[in-house]
Amino acid sequence: MSEPSAPLRPRLLSLQHEVLELVATGQSLDAAMMHLCRRVEEIAPPVISSILLVDQRGALHPLAAPSLPDSYSNALEGLRIGPKTGSCGTAAFRGEPVDVADIETDPLWEDYRALALPIGLRACWSSPIKARDGRVIGTFAFYHRTPHAACDADREIADTCVHLCAIAIEQDLARSQIRRIAYYDAVTGLRNRVSFQEQATRLIEEAAARGTALAIHYVDLDDFKGVNDTLGHRTGDLVLKAVADRLAGLIGDEALVARLGGDEFAILQTGGGMAESEHLARRIQSVFDEPFVIEDHRIQMGMSAGIARLPIDGDNLTDLMKNADLALYRAKGDGRRQFRFYAPEMSDAMRKRRATERGLRKAVEAGEFSLLYQPIVNLASGAIVGCEALLRWRHPTRGMVFPSEFIALAEDMGLIGEIGDWALREACRQATEWPERIVVAINLSPLQLRNPDFVHDVAGVLADNALAASRLELEITETVILADNAVTRGALRRLKDIGVGFALDDFGTGYSSLQSLRAFPIDRIKIDKTFVDELGETTHSTSIVRTVIALAADLGMATTAEGIETSDQYRKLLAGGCSEGQGYYFSRPKSGTDVAQMLAANQSFGPDIGWRPETAAAG
Ligand code: C2E
Ligand code: MG
Ligand code: MG
Repeated sequence: MSEPSAPLRPRLLSLQHEVLELVATGQSLDAAMMHLCRRVEEIAPPVISSILLVDQRGALHPLAAPSLPDSYSNALEGLRIGPKTGSCGTAAFRGEPVDVADIETDPLWEDYRALALPIGLRACWSSPIKARDGRVIGTFAFYHRTPHAACDADREIADTCVHLCAIAIEQDLARSQIRRIAYYDAVTGLRNRVSFQEQATRLIEEAAARGTALAIHYVDLDDFKGVNDTLGHRTGDLVLKAVADRLAGLIGDEALVARLGGDEFAILQTGGGMAESEHLARRIQSVFDEPFVIEDHRIQMGMSAGIARLPIDGDNLTDLMKNADLALYRAKGDGRRQFRFYAPEMSDAMRKRRATERGLRKAVEAGEFSLLYQPIVNLASGAIVGCEALLRWRHPTRGMVFPSEFIALAEDMGLIGEIGDWALREACRQATEWPERIVVAINLSPLQLRNPDFVHDVAGVLADNALAASRLELEITETVILADNAVTRGALRRLKDIGVGFALDDFGTGYSSLQSLRAFPIDRIKIDKTFVDELGETTHSTSIVRTVIALAADLGMATTAEGIETSDQYRKLLAGGCSEGQGYYFSRPKSGTDVAQMLAANQSFGPDIGWRPETAAAG
């Protein structure tokens, strides 16, 4: 190396200053190192400088070499360090400087000579760059175009540069470590919500600008909570990791996969139409075909997914995520283990649901509930023997709301207990105004029966109203039978013991058999309206109804046919041996006072005397 034109020390100091400033101001590592190489080459012409990174597996990666041809740098990419790998690879391997004064003859260059000599490189002196812990993280090299051995000035420059390189590279490693922690999920190694949002926002903007399609698949595991609760959080985490590995393996670079938190994942698919989205959704689902084997547990997981597409379902990430979530909610509601594409009516349904939720919270206190009563008629005598209480909600703006629109919601919201209590109390109070032979039937939610105080509450209401227990019939559904829960069964038994009757509502719509009812204290089967509707239309349904009535009679149970609307249905049910019936043919549900009048008038019915429009109250 020829003598520098100006004194070396001050020039090195200003180089140091410049590079440190680049690092401190957050310039990229590439930029800082390129600057360093250029300045060194100015300070010590005709030297050619080069900086390589060494990764944890011992592979070389060119970082900066402004005066070397790209073809040369590219040829070094990925080379493994070793005892005989040119100057840099050997210096990194040995952890000490390697001075090759003549590439043409030095054995260390035997395998690489053909790369260097043709482009006029003749000497190479390389020093390892070490992290504070001593690990080699890079190399700094001087090349010469003529045979050349390192001199003192070379050493002084190299010392300064190696030190600067170490600072810059370590800083960069720390930065990417922080990025990894901030952007990747520790449990699964997938991108986290923050980095998904960043990437997705960018991809959505690009796709929107280009007018290409894009889909977001919002995936949620089914019953993951069950795994966590039964096998513990550690196993839960391993399941999440296994799911993530399968998803990442399936999707590869094809799409962006992230864990949003909990058991929720998002997959962003670029390009493709509806068919491609559906295809990917099916493949994602197939990931769950095989059980996950974790610590000797075979865990069969399922997932539901909602899909929203750019641009039809939204033109920004927030809207697409919201709509994918709504579609996911629908997929869950439709029985899980499936995917749904977003459709605008899902938003309407959700808005309505939210509004109903808000209203429901206030409805009990605001006194917006009322009960209507539908007479139950003994088919043989035509006399009214009871009334079923049916809940109505007088919504301040929507008007009359029917139970089908709010009972399930009230159950979800945990409000059914309060509403059910009110209905029980109100119906029993009403029944005291009726003749003593009239039974009051009240519909129960299965959740009410799980309340440990329920039996006590019912007994209290009966006592408060001095109503005989035999005048109360509680209508339960097949869900209660199918769940066959000890608490529920105990409650039924104790209520039965104090004299309360039970009817099984909507029989025939579920899966329970009459035999399975034996274990429960059921007095009456209510044959669902769908069977009554079909009476006479098919001989098949007529014979089913007759069989149910006969089997129920065998088990000592009465039968009530629901939804009788015609005298023909009445006749057939009577002929089939059905004991009671209710329906518009006799009466629509009426207010307590109207029913009291009907009862006082001792109105009775027959196949030829049914309900007449002029006598009906709105149901
Ligand atoms: P459900 O217990 O099977 O009640 C019979 C339903 O059929 C009632 O609907 C009634 O108005 C209707 N209905 C009766 N006769 C006829 C007919 O001839 N034709 C037609 N088309 N319909 C008829 P509603 O009042 O809308 O109640 C629906 C369901 O809501 C009830 O079915 C019951 O499961 C539930 N429900 C009603 N009130 C309560 C309550 O206080 N608590 C609970 N948990 N559920 C209730
Ligand atoms: Mg009922
Ligand atoms: Mg019913």
